[in-house]
Parts: sequence; C-alpha cells; structure tokens
Amino acid sequence: MSYPCTRCGLCCQKIQYVPELKNFHNGNGICLYFKADVGCTIYQERPLVCRIDEGYEQLFNNQFSLTDYYLKNAEVCNYMQLEAELPSHYRVKLKDG
Ligand code: SF4
Repeated sequence: MSYPCTRCGLCCQKIQYVPELKNFHNGNGICLYFKADVGCTIYQERPLVCRIDEGYEQLFNNQFSLTDYYLKNAEVCNYMQLEAELPSHYRVKLKDG
C-alpha cells in the first residue's frame, strides 16, 4: 500500500512550513521546482521529506503507526484543498475512512 496522493500540488506551494525545505523557495512558500502544468520537476530526485512513504520509513516510523501517519497526512491534504476550494475529486480518501 502507498499513500493515495491525488497530485493536487498544494503541498508543493506551501513549503514555508517545512524547515527541511527552507532553501527550496524564495520566501513565498512555492517550491522552486514546482511548475503548475507539470507538478514537481525533480520528482525522481525530490527530498526525502517530500516522499510520503519513504519519509515514513526513515523519519517517522518511530513516532506514528502508518495508519495514523496516513490519517494525519490526509487531514492536512484535504484541509488545504478545502481552503483552496479545489474540486472534491482531489480529496484524499483512505481505505478505512
Ligand atoms: S497536498 Fe496531498 S494530495 Fe495534494 S499533492 Fe500534496 S500529498 Fe498529494
């Protein structure tokens, strides 16, 4: 199983809240490697913190269960989408809820 990201691109445009990505934006929170019509332009080489599943294994698996980690991620994704008034087909839906 992997995190069911819907590729809305919002997390790439609010990276001012991610200390590990402080050098990836010019103060506006939009990743320098994000292009609106493409998405992440360094996808294969993106930082670990941008990789939800690998990030869990290497950074967070001693802090949360995978279920709780996915729930927390989905909560943030869906909150950002509601705030940005994105269409509902972008909402992250987890199998068990
Ligand atoms: S905000 Fe969530 S659903 Fe949207 S691209 Fe980022 S991880 Fe995927």
